[in-house]
Amino acid sequence: MRRKTKLIHGGIAGDAHTGAVSVPIYQVSTYKQEAVGVHKGYEYSRTGNPTRHALEELIKDVEEGYAGFAFSSGMAAITAVMMLFNSGDHVILTDDVYGGTYRVMTKVLNRLGIESTFVDTSDISQIEKHIKQNTKAIHIETPTNPLLKITDLQAVSALAKQYGLLTIVDNTFSTPYWQTPLALGADIVVHSATKYLGGHSDVVAGLVVVNSEQLATDLHFIQNSTGGILGPQDSWLLMRGIKTLGIRMEEHEKNTRKIVEFLTNHPAVTRVYYPGLPSHPNHDVAKKQMRGFGGMVSFDVGSAEKAEQVLTRVRYFTLAESLGAVESLISLPAKMTHASIPKERRDELGITDGLIRISVGLEDADDLIEDLAQALA
Ligand SMILES: *Cc1c(COP(=O)(O)O)cnc(C)c1O
Repeated sequence: MRRKTKLIHGGIAGDAHTGAVSVPIYQVSTYKQEAVGVHKGYEYSRTGNPTRHALEELIKDVEEGYAGFAFSSGMAAITAVMMLFNSGDHVILTDDVYGGTYRVMTKVLNRLGIESTFVDTSDISQIEKHIKQNTKAIHIETPTNPLLKITDLQAVSALAKQYGLLTIVDNTFSTPYWQTPLALGADIVVHSATKYLGGHSDVVAGLVVVNSEQLATDLHFIQNSTGGILGPQDSWLLMRGIKTLGIRMEEHEKNTRKIVEFLTNHPAVTRVYYPGLPSHPNHDVAKKQMRGFGGMVSFDVGSAEKAEQVLTRVRYFTLAESLGAVESLISLPAKMTHASIPKERRDELGITDGLIRISVGLEDADDLIEDLAQALA
C-alpha cells in the first residue's frame, strides 16, 4: 500500500458488526464478561477501547511500527515514553526541543531522578561526547521548533545501537507522510497529534509508535498504569484527520515554498529558516531523510518591535500557539512557546526576540503573501 492509500485503508477499516464505513465511537467504559475473564478482548476502556484501538492500529501502520498507543496529549505521550526509564538513568535530547519537553525533563522528571542533557543533535559528535555510563536514550526532534534544525536520523540510530541506547523521535513537525523514523532505524516515534495529524485545531492528543514487542508490552503497561489515555470521541476525530493528511501535507508544502521564496527576497527579513532551502546548513540530510520539507518556517525581522508590528498587522495569520492546522498561524517563540526557556539559553540557541514562526495553512498562497507583505511594510 502506498502512503496516501495507507492513511485511508490502514488500521481497522470500518465496523465489522454493521458494515459502517467509519469506525464507530465506542462511548463506553466497561464490557460485559460471559464468565469471569471470558470477554471479546475488552474489559475496561483505560486498558483498551475499540475506537482508540482502531486509531492505534492506524498510526502503527502509517509509521511502519510494531504497535501504536494513543494518549490525551503530546506531553502525556512523551511523559509515558520517559516512564520506560528508571531513577538514575540519563537521556540526551535535542537542544531546541519543544518547550514542554524541556519543562517536563527539567522540572518534573528530574525530581524523579531521570537526568537529561540538551545538545545540538544536528552534530553527531556532540551526541557521542555526552553519552555516559547511565545514558539510556537519545530523544530527537527533527526538524526542530522553531529553528528547523535537522538531525541525521540514520546516523543517530546507528550511534545509539552501537551504545545500546534507544532512539526516540518526535515526528510532530514532519509527520509520517514526509518522514518515517522507524524505517531509518529509530525505536520509538512520538507525536503531538494535536498538530498536523489532527489538522483542524480541534483536538489535543498524543501518539506513540514502537518498533518491538518488548517496547509494546512495556509501554502498554505504562499506558494502563498511569492512565493518560485518549477518549473515544477524540480518537475518532483524529482518525478523521489522518485520512486527509496526505493531501493536506502536499498543499502545505506548495504554499510554504511560495512563502519561503517571498520571505527570502524581502529586505526587512534578515534570515529565513527552512530545511527545503539549499542554503540551510543541513539541507542535504533533510533531502536524504524527508520526502517533503513541511509547512513550518521561521524568519527573523531583527527586533522585538518589528516582530510585534508584524504580529498585530497580519489578517490571515492567526496569532496563536500550536501549528499544523488548515488555518495559518503565527507566533513569537521567545514570548510564547519558548517562554519557559530562560532568556540566556534562548539567545544562545538563536531564538531571538525578532524571530517569528509561521505555520503555513491551506488558504490561497497569494492571499498569505499579500498579508505578509503589508504586515512587513
Ligand atoms: C505541541 C508539541 C508537543 C506537545 O504536544 P501537546 O499535544 O501540546 O501536549 C510536543 N512536541 C512538539 C514538537 C510539539 O509541537
